[in-house]
Amino acid sequence: MSDEPSYILEISGLPESGGGANEGQPSGQAGGRPWIGMHFECCGVYTRIYRNRDGTAYEGHCPRCHRVARVKIGAGGTSHRMFRAE
Ligand SMILES: [Zn+2]
Repeated sequence: MSDEPSYILEISGLPESGGGANEGQPSGQAGGRPWIGMHFECCGVYTRIYRNRDGTAYEGHCPRCHRVARVKIGAGGTSHRMFRAE
């Protein structure tokens, strides 16, 4: 019989692949912000939108008509990397 305790790994938050928290990094650094691809159907353009400061959503706007798009980051998150704004 094994006396080893069973370790329970609790995984919460986003299942980000290849990402990970930026440990000890001051926020506000350019280049390191996570982003997702957003296709704006209003103008048929594709662009990136970036995660907001609070890490609660990805926010951006259409480069042509400046329509705002937001993808909330919820518990459980999403593994999708592409979104459409209709
Ligand atoms: Zn647009």
